[in-house]
Amino acid sequence: MHILVTGGSGFIGSHLVERLLQRGDQVTIIDDLSTGRVSNLAHLADNPQLEIVESDLGNPVLVQKYCAQVDQVYHLAAAVGVALIAKRPYESIHRNIYPTQVLLDALSRELDRGRRVPFFLASSSEVYGKNPKSVWSEEDDLVFGATTKPRWSYGVSKSIDEFLALALVKERNLPVVIARFFNVVGPRQTGAYGMVLPRFVQAAMTGKSLMVHDDGQQQRCFAHVHDVAEAIMRLVDTPSSYGRVYNVGSNQPLTMLQLANLVREIVNPNAEIEFQSYTDAYDQDFEDIRRRVPDLTRIRETINYSPTKNIEVIIRDVWNEFLSHSGH
Ligand code: NAD
Repeated sequence: MHILVTGGSGFIGSHLVERLLQRGDQVTIIDDLSTGRVSNLAHLADNPQLEIVESDLGNPVLVQKYCAQVDQVYHLAAAVGVALIAKRPYESIHRNIYPTQVLLDALSRELDRGRRVPFFLASSSEVYGKNPKSVWSEEDDLVFGATTKPRWSYGVSKSIDEFLALALVKERNLPVVIARFFNVVGPRQTGAYGMVLPRFVQAAMTGKSLMVHDDGQQQRCFAHVHDVAEAIMRLVDTPSSYGRVYNVGSNQPLTMLQLANLVREIVNPNAEIEFQSYTDAYDQDFEDIRRRVPDLTRIRETINYSPTKNIEVIIRDVWNEFLSHSGH
């Protein structure tokens, strides 16, 4: 198959592209390298099955050209990370909504030409906002804070993407699969946009303090990017998933303080842990989510998914990758 992967030079995208190529697919990436990195795919640069187009997706002519050629579209390009959204909210909202619309317009044209091209949309657990339930399932309400707090714009923009894609399912029967990722981690994730695990591992490696926000009692579940890439491909290849939304990730919560302690134990027992207020880390209006745990019943029923790598394995993988770059 010929597959279009948007955001393929990013963290999750690069792992997905690797797997698609291993399967024997031909892959075209469109990525503007806003947060993606050439180095993520440097080891595949000579692969004749891979084409990398460095461009913004807000170019309808280019997007139409590729949508007319490919058999499946995986849309992962977005502005990701709470820190990035807090710093540049306007650009982030634009990046998260407009490209989705350009892609869906192009896929609508393909429907006019008699071609039904499956569309995968990378959404986020952020769409649940601050829903107070202890475990979130796909039909739960989306509960956002005030528009004066930019952090909610990420979840709202991703939910608009979901609404757009589901509208084309309803109106035109476009084959769409939506995945809400819960804290995906692993090699190639950068700490530059506030992601917690690479930040902790890099701090521990360099003997700096691990900066834990607030009281460190926030609970999150971390899934290895290899498990997630596998789940994405299986969902797209399972037609009974079309028109549906899936939680994707791990359902084993741990607090940020527990995570910091595990990173210390594994990477550097001498590293210190410091607490930092949200005001110092982001801004004074920052509102966080205390607990974020997915109900995985639906994805288990559809593709028999369950994560294979626990948090210790993940920390070691992330650490080993940083070590390989630092020449050790
Ligand atoms: P990433 O920043 O590494 O990847 C995003 C990629 O999209 C980058 O390569 C970037 O250069 C590219 N991009 C952004 N805007 C673009 C545009 N307008 N045109 C072309 N390319 C553009 O982030 P990631 O963690 O790999 O995230 C991939 C997807 O998964 C995103 O849609 C994100 O919202 C979603 N997601 C990720 C997580 C996570 O834990 N990493 C959690 C929830 C959802």
